Amino acid sequence: MSNVSGKVIKVSGPLIVAGGMGECKMFDVVRVSKSHLIGEIIELRGDKASIQVYEETGGIGPGEEVISTGMPLSVELGPGLIESIFDGIQRPLNALREKSGDRIGRGVEVRALDHEKKWKFNPTAKVGDVLIPGDEVGFVQENNLIRHSIMVPVGVSGKLTAIADGEYTIDEVVAKIKTDDGKEIPLTMVQKCSVRKGRPYHEKLAPDMPMVTGQRVIDTFFPITKGGVAAVPGPFGSGKTVVQHQLAKWADADIIVYVGCGERGNEMTDVLNEFPELTDPKTGEPLMKRTVLIANTSDMPVAAREASIYTGITIAEYFRDMGYNVAIMADSTSRWAEALREMSGRLEEMPGEEGYPAYLSSRLAEFYERAGIVKVLGSSGKTGSVTAIGAVSPPGGDLSEPVSQATLRIVKVFWGLSASLAYKRHFPAIDWLQSYSLYADRLADWYDDKLGKEWNALRRKAMSILQEEATLDEIVRLVGMDALGAKDRLTMETAKTVREDYLHQNAFHEIDTYASLNKQLRMLKLIISFYELGQDALIKGVDIEDVITLDVREKIGRAKYIEEKDIARFDEIDKELKKEISDLIG
Ligand code: ADP
Repeated sequence: MSNVSGKVIKVSGPLIVAGGMGECKMFDVVRVSKSHLIGEIIELRGDKASIQVYEETGGIGPGEEVISTGMPLSVELGPGLIESIFDGIQRPLNALREKSGDRIGRGVEVRALDHEKKWKFNPTAKVGDVLIPGDEVGFVQENNLIRHSIMVPVGVSGKLTAIADGEYTIDEVVAKIKTDDGKEIPLTMVQKCSVRKGRPYHEKLAPDMPMVTGQRVIDTFFPITKGGVAAVPGPFGSGKTVVQHQLAKWADADIIVYVGCGERGNEMTDVLNEFPELTDPKTGEPLMKRTVLIANTSDMPVAAREASIYTGITIAEYFRDMGYNVAIMADSTSRWAEALREMSGRLEEMPGEEGYPAYLSSRLAEFYERAGIVKVLGSSGKTGSVTAIGAVSPPGGDLSEPVSQATLRIVKVFWGLSASLAYKRHFPAIDWLQSYSLYADRLADWYDDKLGKEWNALRRKAMSILQEEATLDEIVRLVGMDALGAKDRLTMETAKTVREDYLHQNAFHEIDTYASLNKQLRMLKLIISFYELGQDALIKGVDIEDVITLDVREKIGRAKYIEEKDIARFDEIDKELKKEISDLIG
């Protein structure tokens, strides 16, 4: 039922209650007043609808008209997505600014994608082919990196009766499909898709492949899978932005969707300024060439923030459906939850903990559940993945607050950024004693296969050395280093190497910024060899001072600066280590 119209009864900030809306559906998009403000029905009671409005509601009063579009909140999916910067309801920020100046006007109609631009459509299906949803009919080379597949939309299947080849706008017909009941359905290059429901797929698969990030603390100790879910809480100044940038640049994802829900205007301005400046290290091109940015600027009301993560993940799923590995970063989900809390308060719902609505957890889960690695629709048998990484910004860094707690119950990986590590300038400041990855065991087989059997043993050993250090630290604090036996001294020294030379990784150093898994393996092997050979030497009566002052230790420390192409230098250091130890033993 479309075009139901009602009247505003009450305005409360971004929430409007309208009467006469009995024939509408939940989540229908409506237009409010002559200004055509965009809103969404979030509650229906009798003929009264509570409407979350995505634009400033100042000046709107009772009696003004509300018209339902009969459609749910949707995004446009098609060529032109890549390199775009959208707001929370997919309005392109640049076009908005052009139309209404720096302060975005209300009710401004701009379409998400460019409907005038012509794209070269390259057919891949042939007339006569029998196609099902998800099958490719052709593609557009969106830029030199991204091949944008034009897929048969959900709900359409049959025989291809016509296919174009040439330059078209996204609204022009590029293919026709005759369905079993004889109807001919024209296909264009654009699809509309509701944001609140996940896009369908063939089958969800168990994540069993890491998303390699080149960041040692993550890959070695707290790996994430392709299709995995992670949270990264970041107190101010703890290096959250740098971590996100490193992931965007280096993670082996094809496409990045970055959703910024900043509270303060300048946070978002930073993202808008910084992201387009980033270079994709793999291609030397701007990272934007494989990025979609969603930014809630400060001049947008909180409700748009609430919608933005759904807009983002729907776009991510669309690229997944082409067979891409997509990483979506939501920064920060705390700001998103605050928007939820504000709307809930205005709805006068019964507040839960700290005023958040009782459905906070289920809403968060609904977002993260849309991540995963799937066999996509269509007959290609391709897989695609959406990996979701949510930043959390708990006030005062206190993880016992409701948003952090709800997130921790859902995600499988937790990279806990620590203010005290950042203060000591240990970066990335991911606390190795607090963080975890529930994928590590599941990935063990993959590592055995790709890196050899020793990897899992090495990473476990390194972690146990760090844990032992934490215990020994207590003793040292009480009675001093001298009280430790030789073996414990060796543990402390090795732990220091693991921390300072292995886990510490300088994002701004040309070589150190990324370490392949192979390099991580070689580095770790050197450190653990030093530890084991050192232990052996101690048993054979060598003095601990001699072990910890070996010349080779400096080389082990500097191994992170060895370029990938010089990986053979690890063999030399390994030889030197063995020689120096055997010289000590005599
Ligand atoms: P946040 O976003 O949490 O406020 P930033 O990501 O801006 O913090 O980091 C603050 C500063 O910490 C950066 O400007 C940089 O100097 C330093 N830093 C963070 N991570 C790293 C890293 N991996 N390598 C080197 N320096 C880092």
